[in-house]
Amino acid sequence: MSKILHISVDINGALKCAKDFVGCVYDDSGRALTDVEEIKAAFRQELALGHRLLPAAGCKNFDPQRGCLGCEKEDDGDDS
Ligand SMILES: [Zn+2]
Repeated sequence: MSKILHISVDINGALKCAKDFVGCVYDDSGRALTDVEEIKAAFRQELALGHRLLPAAGCKNFDPQRGCLGCEKEDDGDDS
């Protein structure tokens, strides 16, 4: 199994271009947010929790301060 590092998104930077995240941010019920103000509110909520970074999709070993700490690569398909 090889390890990969996911990219992470700086929340303060994301707030400045929230419209780029339309359809890419999900609420707790898994619904994609399509309203820019709703997306900004979601980002501000993360900041209020003390988070600095958002994980990329599929990242399971994420630190909201430091980003991806290294994930197992799942789609390897070749473990020889
Ligand atoms: Zn990761």
